[in-house]
Amino acid sequence: MQAPVGLLPLKCVNCGGSLETTPTADILRCQYCKQLMLLHRQAAPTIAPVPSALVARQEVSANCLRPGDALNWQGGTLYVAPEGLAFVPHSFNFGTLERAVVFYPQIMGVTLDTGLISDDVVVTLRDGQTWSYRVRKGKELVEAIQQAAQPRA
Ligand SMILES: [Zn+2]
Repeated sequence: MQAPVGLLPLKCVNCGGSLETTPTADILRCQYCKQLMLLHRQAAPTIAPVPSALVARQEVSANCLRPGDALNWQGGTLYVAPEGLAFVPHSFNFGTLERAVVFYPQIMGVTLDTGLISDDVVVTLRDGQTWSYRVRKGKELVEAIQQAAQPRA
């Protein structure tokens, strides 16, 4: 059962600003400082940064085709974050965290399929699933992902 989170006074973990949410949103974005947060729907809902303090290295307007979504591309924003790729659709109706974030250790390979108007960046995970991100500048995105995904000492 989902708690009526819309009635809770949720605060941004970064700046303390009031957060607005809906009964279906699992990823929230602070309207003041742009911090992204994950909403945990438990008996007492809490919020946490997603995936970490999401200081995205890059924020790209993208269409995303998630595993199992057939041909249903979703428009939204892709965040190339320190710990993974977080895709937040415009609608914000995004289900669970597994459906939103790809963590770099899960990634087996990244391929680029260039087109006339847009490029498809296809991320293949170790379990064989693929996430496709359709963006304007695919080469830049591939480089950003490769840079972000490098293991840090
Ligand atoms: Zn904030």
